[in-house]
Amino acid sequence: MKLQNRSQIEALAKFKGQGDLVTSFYLDTDKGRLNRKEIQLALKNLVSEARDRACALGAAKDKTASLLGDLDLIAEHGGQAIASSNAAGLAFFSHSLEKFWHALELPHGPRNRITFDTNFYIRPLAAILDKYSPICALLISRRESRWYDISMNEIKALDELESDVPRSVREGGFEGTAAKKIERRMDAHLQEHFKRTAQRTFELSKKHPFDWLFIGCEDNNCGDFEAHLHSYLRERVKARLKAHAGDSPAKVLQEVLEVEARLKKAEELETVRKLVAEIERGGLAASGLRDTIHRLNQFEVQSLVVTHNFSKPGRFCPTHKLFYLDELQCPICDKKTVVVQDVVDEAIETVLKRGGAVKHVASPSKLDRYGEIGAFLKYKS
Ligand SMILES: [Zn+2]
Repeated sequence: MKLQNRSQIEALAKFKGQGDLVTSFYLDTDKGRLNRKEIQLALKNLVSEARDRACALGAAKDKTASLLGDLDLIAEHGGQAIASSNAAGLAFFSHSLEKFWHALELPHGPRNRITFDTNFYIRPLAAILDKYSPICALLISRRESRWYDISMNEIKALDELESDVPRSVREGGFEGTAAKKIERRMDAHLQEHFKRTAQRTFELSKKHPFDWLFIGCEDNNCGDFEAHLHSYLRERVKARLKAHAGDSPAKVLQEVLEVEARLKKAEELETVRKLVAEIERGGLAASGLRDTIHRLNQFEVQSLVVTHNFSKPGRFCPTHKLFYLDELQCPICDKKTVVVQDVVDEAIETVLKRGGAVKHVASPSKLDRYGEIGAFLKYKS
């Protein structure tokens, strides 16, 4: 199955191993950068290293057997997928004891890793999904309109429409009053074409929801057309395209991806700018890992802003479900805290489970100076 939307991640985030360890697997299979032999070797090494780790855990016999069962499945399915799939990345989630298995193809190569934990390691999925917004590209010529859906680097034709608009006034060789009359009639036809196109766009948006609408319009008529759009869709217009209705989907996709990358970069910069401004004025924001985790423990975090792949080990009180950077004892119950491999990851999962948002920012950015992580807060207690 391809990674396509947030609900897939939420389902995995909610999965409970009932205290058992479950296995998450990520493999970079980007054949643009790696050849098949290199990918196969990486899989082999990853699984063999994880086998040693599983045996060294000293868990009960059936639990160790469950982890080793996960690794057998990963080796088998991984080998098959490397041979048959063109995806840039693979992610498997397994809990053999409960016969749970979920495989995903990723549009972007993740860092290779196998983790054993009481829940699935989903952070790389959220980071990948964050890089993409569902986009509708609409290309309008004087007679024709075409809609494409672009998500996760793939383009799909959605719909097309043809209107009966006269090609040009001069075709008939009319002059003077006659030409003016025809021009007016043509203009009316064109406005009618725009109206139909706007109406169809609205219908499509209900069937295939998108975050962003990119429009390419012949003769720079975009402004005219947008006046016909529903206000809800006008807010989603993020860019104008140079592509034409007659262009190949591959050509349209290329331009859309370029524009998308530019917009995402600008969005990241804007998020960091807002966060830094809020931090500087002592407003509703946290900065750095220690403060952010403290705020998270207090249920104050609205959304998290984190540098891609930023990771730090930390500690956790299982009784109070609180995270710490380095407290060996929970300050509330004085009980010993347990180690978590990646407390940044735990923070991300916690925010997602509580329905908050997580924004990933590419490094270098201004966030580096604030400890690579921060949060917008709902309130400060
Ligand atoms: Zn505690």
